[in-house]
Amino acid sequence: TCKDKHVHYLCYQPSLNKHSLLRLSLMSELRAAILDNQLELFYQPKLDIEQQKIVSVECLVRWHHPEHGFIQPDEFIPLAEQSGHIRALTEWAIKTALAQHKSWLKQGIELQMAVNISAVDLIDLKLPALVAQLMSSHGLSPHSLKLEVTESAVMAEPDQALQALCMLNQMGIKLSIDDFGTGFSSMAQLKKMPLDELKIDKSFVLDLNNDEDDEVIVKSTVELAHNLGLSVVAEGVEDLLTLNKLKGFGCDIAQGYFIAKPMTAENFIAWWDPVRLQ
Ligand code: C2E
Ligand code: CA
Ligand code: CA
Ligand code: CA
Repeated sequence: TCKDKHVHYLCYQPSLNKHSLLRLSLMSELRAAILDNQLELFYQPKLDIEQQKIVSVECLVRWHHPEHGFIQPDEFIPLAEQSGHIRALTEWAIKTALAQHKSWLKQGIELQMAVNISAVDLIDLKLPALVAQLMSSHGLSPHSLKLEVTESAVMAEPDQALQALCMLNQMGIKLSIDDFGTGFSSMAQLKKMPLDELKIDKSFVLDLNNDEDDEVIVKSTVELAHNLGLSVVAEGVEDLLTLNKLKGFGCDIAQGYFIAKPMTAENFIAWWDPVRLQ
């Protein structure tokens, strides 16, 4: 039985998928949630393994629902994609990330912001113009923004995705292919995309210390990416042994709970350099 709030939340999650009425109401509430400031970006650092330096942060959305509490993106991003609200959400996420970037710049902190975009954003082709407008209205250089797009999103409509990615690339926006290894993309298609970064999916990284197959997959993915001129991120790095293994494989960037969990902007700054802010 669900007694306290925390337990209630844990019970609530699995039922979300089953109750389509609840899903419908969440879908219709999303737009209001964006306007009503119920969404928040959390920031997770990306560590340059060689330099031992945080070079970037990934921006991950959270929904503080007034009745249901904290809702994870895996629960509502698919709903946003189905209902068309994802465009407004993506616009909100890029705007919020750029505003945060500017505020950190004022404090002397320069970190590239990595924002997740969905397949829908690539298909409707309005994204490049929107990004161009936001970059110029914030007066930011294009390398301050990286867009992470999943392998499966690119492969959903490869021709349209290629067009959108080329436009963004020409503007100087950095592009990352996310969840790599889970999306069955063809190398021929991937080779055509103007990418800067490849993120090895955490499913291959989480068990790297125990699973020899994962070791082979990660090692050869690093080589493949480097041969294609891409920098490589491993996500889901949860311990030092994994980090050292990745370093041995020549992986460029590590992200995961061993370095830090996604944090609010406030907590991120406190974690990033407590001494500096004194
Ligand atoms: P993703 O882009 O693959 O993000 C990585 C997920 O792995 C995040 O989950 C992060 O919290 C989690 N993670 C990071 N380090 C570790 C680790 O060491 N161990 C484990 N087990 N997990 C780790 P999160 O924040 O729940 O986001 C889930 C997914 O929701 C994201 O996967 C992304 O696809 C999507 N998402 C999040 N924010 C946005 C957004 O603003 N727009 C869009 N379109 N999608 C978003
Ligand atoms: Ca991502
Ligand atoms: Ca990922
Ligand atoms: Ca994922």
